[in-house]
Amino acid sequence: MALLQISEPGMSAAPHQHRLAVGIDLGTTNSLVATVRSGSAVCLADEAGRKTLPSVVRYTENGGIEVGAQALKAQKTDPLNTISSAKRLIGRTLHDLKQEAHYLPYRFGQNERVIELNTRQGNKTPIEVSAEILKTLKSRAEATLGGDLVGAVITVPAYFDDAQRQATKDAAKLAGLKVLRLLNEPTAAAIAYGLDNASEGTFVVYDLGGGTFDVSVLQLTKGLFEVKATGGNSALGGDDFDHRLFCHLLEQNGLSKLNEQDSQLLLALARSAKETLTLETQAHIQAELSDGLTIDTLISRSEFHNLTQHLVQKTIEPVKQALKDAGVGKADIQGVIMVGGSTRMLHVQQTVAAFFGQTPLNNLNPDEVVALGAAVQANVLAGNKADGEWLLLDVTPLSLGLETYGGLVEKIIPRNSTLPTARAQDFTTFKDGQTAMTIHVLQGERELVSDCRSLAKFTLRGIPPMVAGAARIRVTFQVDADGLLSVSAQEQSTGVQTQIEVKPSYGLDDDTITQMLKDSMSHAAADMAARARAEAAVEAESLIAAIESALALDSDLLTEAEAAAIQHDIAALQQQVQQGDADTIRAAVAALSQSTDNFAAKRMNRNIQRALTGQSIDNI
Ligand code: ADP
Ligand code: MG
Repeated sequence: MALLQISEPGMSAAPHQHRLAVGIDLGTTNSLVATVRSGSAVCLADEAGRKTLPSVVRYTENGGIEVGAQALKAQKTDPLNTISSAKRLIGRTLHDLKQEAHYLPYRFGQNERVIELNTRQGNKTPIEVSAEILKTLKSRAEATLGGDLVGAVITVPAYFDDAQRQATKDAAKLAGLKVLRLLNEPTAAAIAYGLDNASEGTFVVYDLGGGTFDVSVLQLTKGLFEVKATGGNSALGGDDFDHRLFCHLLEQNGLSKLNEQDSQLLLALARSAKETLTLETQAHIQAELSDGLTIDTLISRSEFHNLTQHLVQKTIEPVKQALKDAGVGKADIQGVIMVGGSTRMLHVQQTVAAFFGQTPLNNLNPDEVVALGAAVQANVLAGNKADGEWLLLDVTPLSLGLETYGGLVEKIIPRNSTLPTARAQDFTTFKDGQTAMTIHVLQGERELVSDCRSLAKFTLRGIPPMVAGAARIRVTFQVDADGLLSVSAQEQSTGVQTQIEVKPSYGLDDDTITQMLKDSMSHAAADMAARARAEAAVEAESLIAAIESALALDSDLLTEAEAAAIQHDIAALQQQVQQGDADTIRAAVAALSQSTDNFAAKRMNRNIQRALTGQSIDNI
């Protein structure tokens, strides 16, 4: 069957002797590369012994490119040419960013399909920026491991949609890296823990990074990882803790506004004080600002916790929602996996422990755990492991469906379906003699097309002319293990099928997804009314069409008064279709059916007589 391929053809490696494969955590703030050596996963360090690579890329004056710590240092002095957090922009458009664009220190190009950042070396897309990070990690791995890589497993947030996943793959391609698989970050963390601890049961992955918070509910059984639900907040992370402490420093020192350079300096000091406070009970912040002012503040751990506890508390709401989505309670949770540098903070650990009533799992390094799990998976996919494969299952963040007659959405793959998944549903034609059908693929929870996100539209042609409702068009949705969607449509009696290549032009970010989910809940009642209305209208239109075609054939069966009554009821129904609600449309449908009862009976008699004409009674 011809499939509407959005994804690249899947890649699975043939068994081989030991092949070099890596796992890459391409983070918003930091990125890491890991591999399996002598049976255990390890993160690889650069020449200076550093494992985390800040996800920052700088385009320098002499045409060079700096990646990592060096670029991060230049961020204060060269902000326009130093790109950080490209992951927030990848696979999205300026339109998706909306207000967010104003808070970012970049000059954006006017391209509508892909975000472009003006740098001194020309326009750069987030894909190119991410490719530089991947290139750096690739060469680090090749230098350390002494050979060419066969491929990499790259992790992405569970929320990433098609466009964001595709863009991540494009970045890998630009970096000359073969993608063995895209893997959801929480699943990678679970792999790391599942292997090390051989755990089973329902687990929560709590990932608080630099700028984002993600929570997932996972089901772990021997050799099988299944993501039951995901949630989070894309605008909450370690940066907010830095910022809170920074504001506190301003207050303490009676400052209201600083120049750009001073605030960057103070922010960096706030961050390192925050990190110090996970090990020490107090931190000393000293700085000399440009106008000669000095800052000298001692902050205790408990003061810092008081200042930022509300931020920690903000993570609990999405945790509750994810539990609800997964249909589990706190008591069902066998373990909580802590991921992300910000989970080093003690009040984060304590708050999570108090909420779940148990000490979180944190014996693996929270910065490394995602990369380690990805490395384990890469090792399997590269064919280095003899004893079978893991089946990896993730979930779809939003429902996928089709537009049906009347502007309604028929959900084919519900939200939180386990991946990979495929589902088919049969549709039929609405009009007599209809030879083409438009397949409109949508993403979202709402009932009406206009409230969901359009992903693709294509047309199946060459349906043989039949009466309405006779054709069987099977539409198949497939979402692969990377979370990429393909759709096919085939008419069953003739085998006519359609094929189209669609690449989504923009993606959905976490906030949009969260918003769409919220909307679907708060609009449920209104949506139901709209659906009922649209269904009634569809029914009305098909009744009118059927009566009109019967009138064209057999109107001689009616008296003038009968014909006038039917015309009157048709007009009344048409008016309700325009203006009425579900109930009034249904009432008008009932009235029209009633006034045509007699006509239908007469037609039936005539048809029977026609059928009998010329046949002997014995043949009946
Ligand atoms: P991401 O997944 O967003 O790339 P990371 O998981 O690497 O991010 O987390 C980065 C965040 O972790 C930063 O905000 C950093 O300040 C914070 N962090 C790292 N180490 C510590 C620490 N010891 N104490 C508190 N926060 C820390
Ligand atoms: Mg991370």
